[in-house]
Amino acid sequence: MATNTRSPQLIDRLPTVRGRLEASVPLARHTWFRVGGSAEVLFRPADAKDLAEFMAATPDDIAVTVIGIGSNLLVRDGGIPGVVIRLGQGLSGITVEGATICAGAGAAGLHVANAARDGAIAGLEFLCGIPGGIGGALRMNAGAYGTEIKDVFVAARAVSRDGALHDLGRDDMGFAYRQSAATAGLIFVDARLAGWPGDKEAITKRMAEIQSTRRTTQPVRTPTGGSTFKNPHGAKAWELIDQAGCRGLGRGGAKVSEKHCNFLVNTGTASAADLEGLGEEVRRRVLAETGVCLEWEIQRLGIAAGPPVKEVGT
Ligand SMILES: Cc1cc2nc3c(=O)[nH]c(=O)nc-3n(C[C@H](O)[C@H](O)[C@H](O)COP(=O)(O)OP(=O)(O)OC[C@H]3O[C@@H](n4cnc5c(N)ncnc54)[C@H](O)[C@@H]3O)c2cc1C
Repeated sequence: MATNTRSPQLIDRLPTVRGRLEASVPLARHTWFRVGGSAEVLFRPADAKDLAEFMAATPDDIAVTVIGIGSNLLVRDGGIPGVVIRLGQGLSGITVEGATICAGAGAAGLHVANAARDGAIAGLEFLCGIPGGIGGALRMNAGAYGTEIKDVFVAARAVSRDGALHDLGRDDMGFAYRQSAATAGLIFVDARLAGWPGDKEAITKRMAEIQSTRRTTQPVRTPTGGSTFKNPHGAKAWELIDQAGCRGLGRGGAKVSEKHCNFLVNTGTASAADLEGLGEEVRRRVLAETGVCLEWEIQRLGIAAGPPVKEVGT
């Protein structure tokens, strides 16, 4: 059902939708870090057709940003101007065909892994430890324990800024370590992922091992954004951060996790500026100590509420 919480400004220039369209929605509740300002307008499409029609009818000068489950995002305190599209329930269907899973971009990795287990499909267990959705996993080429999305990818569909629906194959995705070179601005709406016939008991056991290892090695019960920096070629980001003496380092309510020092955590009172500033301080110290310039894995979106955080190297 359409929900239009109308404010004069941007929302009045937007088309009527079947999903939810709301002005000034705080994004902290939509990100794992639990920080950040508001979306000028938040759109939650009812389905892929609703999304495509919205994109086709939205004037070109309006900025559009897509987010998934927000597990790899730092939304700055000044929020995100324009329309933020969040793919959730309306695009979270999962179906099983032989050893292939078709999943909506809003489906959680855990639910896809569970469906694969129930269908005795092996090879998708790694998704049970990645707390994001399939759209985010495609954009980030998410992976763990030696398997990445690219290894199980068959095809995807995406909507472009003009509302056209595109079929994408492997060559269109340009997968690399924690990124996809798929055309910027494409919004993935679903994907086909393939495993192979497996033993349900062995799959269940593997998923339990993954989840137990995560609980032991990562601060999964604290607001976080997962791995903050990509592993540089031939090195581990956490080792460099440890070597630079940053384990436990704090800034405002932000802290480098004691448990896994490539994770930043919000101890409860952090702002996005605290987290981004701490991340840059870690980059500065690692560069000074090891000569390596760490690259952010976490996606930083939106505008600062105060002076922008100064980036190492600028
Ligand atoms: C505790 C914890 C553990 C984690 N462990 C891992 C791990 O082991 N391996 C790993 O790879 N990641 C890990 N992550 C990071 C994160 O879970 C993954 O990157 C995940 O795939 C992001 O999905 P999301 O739905 O949360 O995307 P978001 O964080 O919402 O967005 C991430 C990026 O994807 C884009 N995006 C989202 N949806 C779409 C879409 N439909 N179409 C186009 N672009 C889209 C966004 O614009 C943004 O650039 C971890 C995070 C946490 C908090």
